[in-house]
Parts: sequence; structure tokens; C-alpha cells
Amino acid sequence: MTPDPIKARLLDGQALAVLIQQQEIAPQVAAFVSRHGRPPGLAIVLVGENPASEVYVRNKLKSGAGVGFRADLERLPATATLQDVLALVDRLNRSPLYDGILVQSPLPKTLGADAAQRVYDSIAPEKDVDGFAPESVGRMVQNRPALVACTPSGIIELLVRERIPIAGRHAVVIGRSDIVGKPMAMLLLHRDATVTICHSKTPDLAAVCRQADILVAAVGRAGLVTKDFVKPGATVIDVGMNTLTDLAAVQRMYPDGHPRLARFREKGSLLVGDVHPEVADVAGALTPVPGGVGPLTITMLMVNTLRAAQTILSTPR
Ligand code: NAD
Repeated sequence: MTPDPIKARLLDGQALAVLIQQQEIAPQVAAFVSRHGRPPGLAIVLVGENPASEVYVRNKLKSGAGVGFRADLERLPATATLQDVLALVDRLNRSPLYDGILVQSPLPKTLGADAAQRVYDSIAPEKDVDGFAPESVGRMVQNRPALVACTPSGIIELLVRERIPIAGRHAVVIGRSDIVGKPMAMLLLHRDATVTICHSKTPDLAAVCRQADILVAAVGRAGLVTKDFVKPGATVIDVGMNTLTDLAAVQRMYPDGHPRLARFREKGSLLVGDVHPEVADVAGALTPVPGGVGPLTITMLMVNTLRAAQTILSTPR
């Protein structure tokens, strides 16, 4: 008789996010307010009207308010120039109300290909709560105290709290972006994993991924990671956030009668990860989409903003 397939333990990022925000961050914010007479301040810059960005920004503002921050939206129209964005960041850099500044990406294409980097470069390092500015990246690479990119630091938080060993394990990261793949690889390295980074030019991707004890998929391709990518018992972290609007694509991931297929029919779209659901039969642990990495990304933004505020107010001016 063949043994029953492994059914992966689901790593509940949503529950962990609520716990960290309510039980750890909110009390520290209350202590900060009684000590300094003002809450930590987070300013979020949104340029133009990208529907996905509107949702992300709304969630970040809501979480910020929920932990007791001053969390404000600074909007610029789609017609804004790069100079307008840089001038706004400059004003926020100088403002004593804000300890953290986040410029929501993507910026409108009309601002030019290097606009995002130029904007990140202009954020004061002590307020760089996304961790994308060069000083933050450099310090993170050198494993010195820094504001670290939220998605990879949220994943480390999840692995640590779920007691998934990192040291001495083989971690494979698919994706080499500046905001997820590269910092993820670096943080795993700092925790003594042996790290392999894969990308769109990696030959025989599945064979490389099958060596992983910890597999992180940060690609942006629905269901790319199938069973044959995964060593039995491995931990699989699904960073991908892909909105499917095509029935055939949804059917490639979910069989007839699956509740998520019904949800797609109801809404006309479905948020899915880079990891195919069949991976749950092989992996030891798996993050769901939604409800895995996403809520922890927002939580680490709260952690970074609180840290930035504490550092700013403890540094003599
Ligand atoms: P990106 O487009 O900047 O990078 C994608 C990476 O995937 C690239 O390095 C590319 O080389 C690699 N890639 C592309 N096709 C590949 C293939 N066929 N095989 C192997 N590698 C391939 O994307 P990103 O900003 O790093 O985001 C990746 C995904 O994570 C997206 O779906 C994004 O929406 C999601 N994301 C989620 C969160 C969250 O909080 N959950 C945060 C950031 C990004």
C-alpha cells in the first residue's frame, strides 16, 4: 500500500500578523506615545491611480492606524512629474510628524524607467521603512542594524516563529528582484543557510528547487512551482501575488468543484500565488495565498516604522 501523501502544514501569516500587531507593536506604540507625547508617524505616497496599489495602500494605512500610528496618505495625480514626487519626499524627509516614508510602487511609467530608484535614493535613510534606499541595502548586506525590506524580513519572522530551522539548511530563492529575491537570499545567508538564487535564465529550475529544504518563490507567475519542484517535507514560501482573470488559468490550478473555483466564478478574478496547490501534497509546510506572506509584509512595515521613530527620537539633533 502506498502511504498517504504528506499534507503540508499551512503557515498562517494572517494569524501571526494579528498577534504581532496587537500584542507586540500596539503596546510599544502606546509606551512611545506616553513617553514622547506623539505617535510614530508613517507617510505613504501614492502617485496616480493603480487599483492594486490603492488596495495595498489602504491596508497599510488601516494597519498603521490599528497599531496607533499617525498614518497619512499623500496623493499625487498621475500627471505629477518626477520633480513633484522628489519635492514631496523632501518635504516629508524634513517633517517632524513622520518617522517613516513609503513611496508605493509601481510609479506611473510616464515618470521614466529609473524613477523608482531615484525616489528611493531621495528618502532620508532614517525614514526608509521599505528598506529600498542604497544605505539601507548596504547595511543589510553587511548585516549591520538597518531598516530591512519588509517582505523578506516578514518571511524570516515567520520561519523563526514557526521553528523552521534555517542554519545549515539549503534555501533556494526563485527571483532576484531588489525588493524580494536579493534581500531574501541575503537574510537567509545571514542565518547560516546555504543559499541558491534562481531566476528566469536558470536551466532546469525544477531540479535546482528540488534540492531545497526551504524554497521561496518570488516570481509573479501563477502556479509555476509544481510538485516536481519540491523535495518531500520541504518548507515552501509563496511570495507571488497573481490576479487571474482567465477561467482556463484558474482551472489549471484548481479542479472542478474546488471552492476557489467557485470564488473565481463569483468575483471574476482570483488572487493566487506562484505555488501550485498540488504542492501541499509534497511539502512539509506551506504559506497560503492569500493569508501567508502578504500580512507579514505589512506587519514588518509597522515594525520598521516603530523602530525608525524610536531611533529618530533617541538620536540627538
Ligand atoms: P519582479 O518581476 O521584480 O522579479 C521577478 C523575478 O522572477 C525576476 O528576478 C525573474 O528573473 C524571475 N523570473 C521570472 N520568470 C521566471 C521563471 N520562469 N523562472 C524563474 N524565475 C523567473 O517581481 P518581484 O517584485 O520580486 O515580485 C515577485 C512576486 O512577488 C510578484 O507576484 C509580486 O506581486 C509578489 N510580491 C508579493 C509581496 C507580498 O507581500 N506578498 C511583496 C512583494 C512582491
